[in-house]
Amino acid sequence: MAGIYVHVPFCRQKCRYCDFASFPDKIGLAESYMACVYREMAMRGEELGGKTFDTLYIGGGTPSVVDPQYIAMLVAAAKKHFRLKDGAEITIEINPGTISASKIDLYKRVGINRFSVGLQTANDALLADLGRIHTLREFITCAKLLKGTNFSVDIMIGLKGQSFEDISQSIEVAALYGASHVSMYALTPEDGTPIYTDYLNGELPDGDEVAAQYDFGVRKLAELGYARYEVSNFCKKGRESRHNLNYWRRGEYIGFGVSASSHINNVRFTNTFDLDEYFKCIISNRFAVVDRQEITPPEQRDEFVMLAMRTAEGVDTAEFERLFGLSFAAEYASAIEKNADRLDICDGHVAIKPQYLFVQNHIIVDFLKN
Ligand code: SF4
Repeated sequence: MAGIYVHVPFCRQKCRYCDFASFPDKIGLAESYMACVYREMAMRGEELGGKTFDTLYIGGGTPSVVDPQYIAMLVAAAKKHFRLKDGAEITIEINPGTISASKIDLYKRVGINRFSVGLQTANDALLADLGRIHTLREFITCAKLLKGTNFSVDIMIGLKGQSFEDISQSIEVAALYGASHVSMYALTPEDGTPIYTDYLNGELPDGDEVAAQYDFGVRKLAELGYARYEVSNFCKKGRESRHNLNYWRRGEYIGFGVSASSHINNVRFTNTFDLDEYFKCIISNRFAVVDRQEITPPEQRDEFVMLAMRTAEGVDTAEFERLFGLSFAAEYASAIEKNADRLDICDGHVAIKPQYLFVQNHIIVDFLKN
């Protein structure tokens, strides 16, 4: 499998926890930026013309904040420069505060068939504290417009003053309005963001509290029919994100736009985070890559195991053997023995038991060799 990612780095305002490449004060540059993305696609298309891609993911930032015609042209550019499989999964991230019926209509008409909606929480006071631009009411309007489509909802835990009841309501609202998929993430207070001050002041829940919230959320999601297939991702039957599954299976992907990462032919590379630099590079027909790393075979094995262990299905040992010519059981005998009571080993898969998935890093570290 292979995927295409496009980063649209504009938002209406910066959320208090955000450290993504997003530039609320530069939204006036959206048209020029998108023109650069189309050009970057044309440049890459020449070298990757032979590959077939299964997914296109338009993320950000807030892709739904820009003129939807730019998104239509983006999908057209992707189809023009790359071989996108029939039935490809095409996802767009949308913010409930930026959506209208006509935008959603246009997205659907150009072939977008999956939506990822940032709810974060159903509690308006918590939304305001996060600096989100939308309310619960706007989420409900947005979800009604998406009725019958394949859409995912993002929910956060670990928020200041967040109760179990808040988490329960957020999940219930997502389920009630027909989400086929839920991503549940713990807030990470990144240094340099306003919310980091809350963290330093001891205002955020500690690790044990967040772990309890996570377990509570997992149970609630299961009750409502969402099965966990990755540590933070839950879905109704057959509604896994194919784009993200490709990441966890160490598939190839090509990224476009500022800060976008790629993984092609065992090389990982990342575009600049600097918007001006991105413009300068693309306008002068140069790629905007600032970091490039060839992944050695031992590193490839580490990556494969680390990523697969995040998923409920775990490591497919036959696939490991096919890719690397090594027996998984022999190669990782001591790590398997050490963690025997925390692993499920059956049907050719080695997976972390569900109750240990949230603390997977303590287990995965035993499997890393480089
Ligand atoms: S909407 Fe997303 S990308 Fe934009 S500021 Fe908020 S968290 Fe960051």
